Amino acid sequence: MARSSRKSKQGVFARRRHAVLRRMAGKTDAVLISRPEDVTHLSGFTGDSSFLVLGAGWARLITDGRYGEQAERECPDIPLHVRRGRVGQAVGEALKGRRVRRLAVQSDHVTVRFGEQLAKKLPTKRIRPLADLVAPLRAVKDDDEVRAIRKAIRTAERAFRELLGMGRRRWIGRTERDIAAELNYRMCLAGADGPSFPTIVAAGAHGSLPHYCPAGTRIRPGDAVLIDWGAKVGGYCSDLTRVVFTGTIPPILAEIHDVVRRAQAAGIAAARPGVSGGTVDAAARKVIDEAGYGERFMHSLGHGLGRQVHEAPGLGRTSKVRLRAGTVVTVEPGIYLPGVGGVRIEDDVLVTRGGPRRLSSLPRGMAALTL
Ligand code: ZN
Ligand code: ZN
Repeated sequence: MARSSRKSKQGVFARRRHAVLRRMAGKTDAVLISRPEDVTHLSGFTGDSSFLVLGAGWARLITDGRYGEQAERECPDIPLHVRRGRVGQAVGEALKGRRVRRLAVQSDHVTVRFGEQLAKKLPTKRIRPLADLVAPLRAVKDDDEVRAIRKAIRTAERAFRELLGMGRRRWIGRTERDIAAELNYRMCLAGADGPSFPTIVAAGAHGSLPHYCPAGTRIRPGDAVLIDWGAKVGGYCSDLTRVVFTGTIPPILAEIHDVVRRAQAAGIAAARPGVSGGTVDAAARKVIDEAGYGERFMHSLGHGLGRQVHEAPGLGRTSKVRLRAGTVVTVEPGIYLPGVGGVRIEDDVLVTRGGPRRLSSLPRGMAALTL
């Protein structure tokens, strides 16, 4: 990487750290960032098991011997502590000589046990559990992040198109696990670091289980196959779902596919700045309710997407968080009929001032998804 672009990248991380400091002002004197994706977002360091301590005007990255060299390269602007002992001890050294009475930990990430151990090592500090210090900042993506998510989407779509292109003969008789492995392999060949979560391939009646785990079941002619997959590229995720039809489409599946598609369109249209997650969920849910399948749509409409496959904001019935321009969310209504199968259609959507923009481009019509 050229020195100037490296420098500007460090500037981006510094600005993000500054935004966290503004959020914690008055609540705590310093914060221990432990969630790996948050550490990456605020420092550029991409390893795990590491901690970023932030106070007013200073930062320290605590890592271990496996990551010393990598951390020096990835975040040259942040003083590094390669620990030999326990985390608490390293944090104590980072705080030495600074006026820190209260230290916040990420209550939505660390365990109670970790908090207790830290309190033992730092008996003179007040350990404060704080949530949502970084998530609301990460929910609004900058242009580089949107570009990275687009790349993750393109990679996942390319692999899926290849899989469809293999044709019906190479689907029938293969196991769900086989198809999942093939999709994962093709995503990696297309440039993914890996799948962004364990790929779901659910054949026939298995499609009624929203988070089914692919197994040894073979795909038979006429099965509808629900596939939920995503790629991770450069630290950012995509997340998509389609149902592939391997033959004549049973009328009941054709019916619910049409309802889910209309529900998704209503949900996407509602995803605008200033609108709450609950309102977006309601827009899609109304379509499914009116079709008489409300009871069979048992999950939220969608979720934020970025460094993590599930992140803020949630698009669920109770979500009061208002969408902001720059947020990327999934919109994924579904209808699940036990003993029959299920349909979910999931796309990734960028909220912009001008309205929702669908970032994924795979077809949603049944004809295009029939082998
Ligand atoms: Zn998904
Ligand atoms: Zn999803």
